[in-house]
Amino acid sequence: MTSQSHHDPDALNRLAAAFTVSPNAHPASDEQREAMIDKPAFGQVFSDSMVRMSWRKDQGWSGRSVEAYGPLSLDPAAAVLHYAQEVFEGLKAYHHDDGSIWLFRPDANAERFQNSAKRLSLPELGTEDFLGSVAALVRQDAAWVPRRREYTLYLRPFMYASEPYLGVRAPQQVDYCVIASPSGPYFPGGVKPVSIWVENRWFRTGPGGTGFAKCGGNYAASMVGEGRGAQHGCEQVCFVDAATGTYLEELGGMNIFTVHRDGHLETPSLTGTILPGVTRRSIIELAQDEGHEVSERMIKMDDLLADIRSGEVTEVFACGTAAIITPIGRFKSDEADVTVADGESGSFTMHLRDKLLGIQLGEVDDPHDWMWKVC
Ligand SMILES: *Cc1c(COP(=O)(O)O)cnc(C)c1O
Repeated sequence: MTSQSHHDPDALNRLAAAFTVSPNAHPASDEQREAMIDKPAFGQVFSDSMVRMSWRKDQGWSGRSVEAYGPLSLDPAAAVLHYAQEVFEGLKAYHHDDGSIWLFRPDANAERFQNSAKRLSLPELGTEDFLGSVAALVRQDAAWVPRRREYTLYLRPFMYASEPYLGVRAPQQVDYCVIASPSGPYFPGGVKPVSIWVENRWFRTGPGGTGFAKCGGNYAASMVGEGRGAQHGCEQVCFVDAATGTYLEELGGMNIFTVHRDGHLETPSLTGTILPGVTRRSIIELAQDEGHEVSERMIKMDDLLADIRSGEVTEVFACGTAAIITPIGRFKSDEADVTVADGESGSFTMHLRDKLLGIQLGEVDDPHDWMWKVC
């Protein structure tokens, strides 16, 4: 089928035009690039270019540019190195069969980036600049968007307080960049359920904290929990709420859903401690489109384990931009070791995954107009 969208096809182009392009004088050769795209080392290999832009308290945003990818220069007193004022985003560029390149709901990422920035007293980046910056980088490095199915160019916009100042205050000097890394399928050998460690000692955030903001600090706080999970042989960790230690929240970088015997879905409600995933939001809408009830509520971890044991919960999956949907086959904790159904990938989980991926790749209809064409 041909890719269509109701977004003004030139909208991203116009926004991208605000960015001045200075091409990389030493780009990767065609062979080097193809080799890196073919066997992507996610997060270790980056495209030829990056976006840069800066903010000064008295001037606002300026210096919109696409330039050669390369090291940043940073004063050792830069606030981010001491007080962690940093927020980021993650989204992907997808090749469609007709050669066009698309983004999935980039407006939702722009909005979340603003909410994250506000929480960390960083300046908000306007939606037009966010969309323009991402589109400008994708246009410039279009050759880096892989053509093989399920291979994408992962885009990482981020912002940090660069002012050299050891005093604690809202920053007066901030830098923004977008970098891009070719990525392959999250499960190269086919989708496989993962096992999850239920972490009950270390929390990633708490009430009134930064859980809803996509910031590096949340990840720093989650790593000891991730380490405990790995020690127990689990691929992923799920966190419970810090206030009571009883309610399911999310994984270190993915949201979580349960599928019930009667076909309804549940997912932890957005209480401020959970990252509001774009994938999470999209899955809620897709499931509702198909007549499934979805309830967002507080889910007690013990109730979930009991419902898995009794067969009331038939499937559990995690979701996020990187892996789209990851089936969960098993939960382990200090007290429990529970297998979900037969431990295999559930059929509704896989159906949702196929549907969402189909929309992203332009293979199925996009009734909500989630896709934006870049070029
Ligand atoms: C980014 C992220 C997610 C997933 O969000 P998507 O928009 O679906 O990619 C979930 N949890 C955390 C903690 C995250 O940082």
